[in-house]
Amino acid sequence: MDQHPPGVLSLTEVQAKTLQEYRRFTEAEIAPFANEWDRAGRLPRTLITEMGRAGYLGAMVGTAYGGGAYSLADFGLLNEAIGVGCSSARSVLTVHSMVTRAITRWGSTAQRERWLPDLAAGRRVGAFALSEPQAGSDAAGLDTTARRDGTHYVLDGTKTWITYGQAADAYLVFAGQRGQASAFLVDRDTPGLTVRPIDDMLGTRASMIAELSFDGCRVPGEALLGRPGFGLIAVAGDALDIGRYSVAWGCVGLAQACLESSLDYAGRRHQFGVAIGEHQLVQRMLTDMATTVSAARLLCLQAGELRQAGDPNAVAAVWMAKYFASTGAFRAAADTVQIHGANGCRPDSSPQRLLRDAKVMELIEGSTQIQQSMIARLLSGAA
Ligand SMILES: Cc1cc2nc3c(=O)[nH]c(=O)nc-3n(C[C@H](O)[C@H](O)[C@H](O)COP(=O)(O)OP(=O)(O)OC[C@H]3O[C@@H](n4cnc5c(N)ncnc54)[C@H](O)[C@@H]3O)c2cc1C
Repeated sequence: MDQHPPGVLSLTEVQAKTLQEYRRFTEAEIAPFANEWDRAGRLPRTLITEMGRAGYLGAMVGTAYGGGAYSLADFGLLNEAIGVGCSSARSVLTVHSMVTRAITRWGSTAQRERWLPDLAAGRRVGAFALSEPQAGSDAAGLDTTARRDGTHYVLDGTKTWITYGQAADAYLVFAGQRGQASAFLVDRDTPGLTVRPIDDMLGTRASMIAELSFDGCRVPGEALLGRPGFGLIAVAGDALDIGRYSVAWGCVGLAQACLESSLDYAGRRHQFGVAIGEHQLVQRMLTDMATTVSAARLLCLQAGELRQAGDPNAVAAVWMAKYFASTGAFRAAADTVQIHGANGCRPDSSPQRLLRDAKVMELIEGSTQIQQSMIARLLSGAA
């Protein structure tokens, strides 16, 4: 691959080299298998091992705990590269990084020492358990309870749509009364916790989604992450910001995959005596796609720079990046199926997978509609 894949116009030489390194991993370990994993509805554990070995699962972890302490720009480029190959794999990177970030930011020294080295190395994988059957966009409306019982807490309730929930080793769980939830780190094998697979989702089908039931699930006091009652405002808020940033970059990768696949096919497929890429209406789709990817990448770079600098505008910048990148990725994926015609609808083709995955990106980490109202509220100081 050239240092700059087609359509990548906006990176410095150093960033382009970094992206190239991550893309090499994707091309060896992920992209050739993405359709197969999608059909099987599973990611192999060997992928986790390889991502751990490459240092990717420790991207958000400090070097003292075996992580790579990536800059936000590098973490973004990693998400782009993995997102080019497979959004299910990128989703696991997202939720795992949300958990490692939360432990790094809010954990005690004992909690960091207990969890981070294994999570950074990929010996264990973390999942993020906030959503419930009745609490989606309105995450404050949690029904799961956490009752103090001596030195322990007792969790009762149901979490749903938990990415990699089927295979994760630990869950960051939010439980408590409205607006007063606390965050808990819960081992998978804690008695009272039942994991039920949710298979055959529309998109990110290989991300091994699960429902978690907590039925008198006793966790020790040391499982509490951060201060009691600050689970949503502090722990979830910060983790979701990183998750949103990760998804935004993942959407850049998804749209980049659309662009590369569409450019390739439009050059190979001939109709009416010429390559379809010579028809102006196809060129328009390619142009829109390339422009969208480039603009989304710039918004992501901006969000990363502002967040890295601790700029208060970073929150809005991350929302904008995710909003633009996810809606753009969906349009790019729809056009990719259009350009591939019937071949893009085949069950073993990438375009139909990209389209299904792209729809999910408009729902997670703040749906399109929530973003449409939140960005204005953030900018006017109302949020
Ligand atoms: C593949 C996948 C993976 C996921 N992984 C995880 C995970 O790992 N952990 C986790 O905790 N959750 C996860 N989720 C859940 C995800 O966070 C929720 O789907 C998301 O928060 C939206 O909630 P909801 O689906 O219940 O939709 P709802 O909140 O019920 O919304 C339904 C519709 O109403 C619209 N809507 C809602 N409120 C408003 C409003 N105020 N203004 C305008 N429109 C509104 C929404 O935009 C949407 O179109 C995942 C979901 C999917 C699909």
